Amino acid sequence: MTTTIASTVRGPLIIVSGPSGTGKSTLIRRLLGMNRWPLRLSVSATTRLPRVGETNGVDYHYWDRAGFETALARGEFLEHAEVHGNYYGTLDREVEPNRVAGQGVILDIDVQGAAQVRDKIPDHVSIFVYTSSLDHYEDRLRRRGTEDEAAIQRRLEDARSELSHAGEYQYQILNDDLDAATARLVQIVDEAFSHGR
Ligand code: ADP
Ligand code: 5GP
Repeated sequence: MTTTIASTVRGPLIIVSGPSGTGKSTLIRRLLGMNRWPLRLSVSATTRLPRVGETNGVDYHYWDRAGFETALARGEFLEHAEVHGNYYGTLDREVEPNRVAGQGVILDIDVQGAAQVRDKIPDHVSIFVYTSSLDHYEDRLRRRGTEDEAAIQRRLEDARSELSHAGEYQYQILNDDLDAATARLVQIVDEAFSHGR
């Protein structure tokens, strides 16, 4: 009788949080664009409306509240939270099957969701992205131009409470200089992949 030994190493789970406008999506886009690791972004479900240029199933799964609540009742979420007035959640199917197949998974999630994932999945890597001045969030959100005034104000109000959670993460990345922040993120991800090897 022959025994097959599984040779696939579980991919790392990398949590990225930080206030709106801090540069999470930009950093993650750069990281994935390098094609340096078997790594994918978990596509979250949300009840917020798509922004111009966003694609359903790529940036988010855009669901209405009833659809989100149905999936919640069925236990499909690894974590979920209400963020800036909308539901957001990570689907189990975006995470575990990929990790088992040896792929790393990145979660771009808020501080509430990150706390839930930390409790459920001990072998995670957690990163908090911030800037040296609160003014940067406002400047960047305005320059990004994707939110109306009410949504910008809501996100800025939420930034302070999010920043108070920075210490709960294993790593903090200052994103004043995008290249420097990217380089630090690359180091952390390299380390995360080397641990499983
Ligand atoms: P988040 O995903 O955290 O909400 P984004 O990645 O959308 O933030 O970035 C918000 C805006 O700030 C974008 O227009 C992005 O191009 C810009 N940005 C990101 N990082 C920097 C940086 N280090 N310096 C200046 N602008 C930045
Ligand atoms: P945005 O609307 O700017 O795309 O995201 C707003 C906030 O929701 C960001 O802090 C982002 O990290 C967070 N977020 C995105 N997806 C999820 C998710 O699946 N779960 C949780 N808890 N937060 C999420």
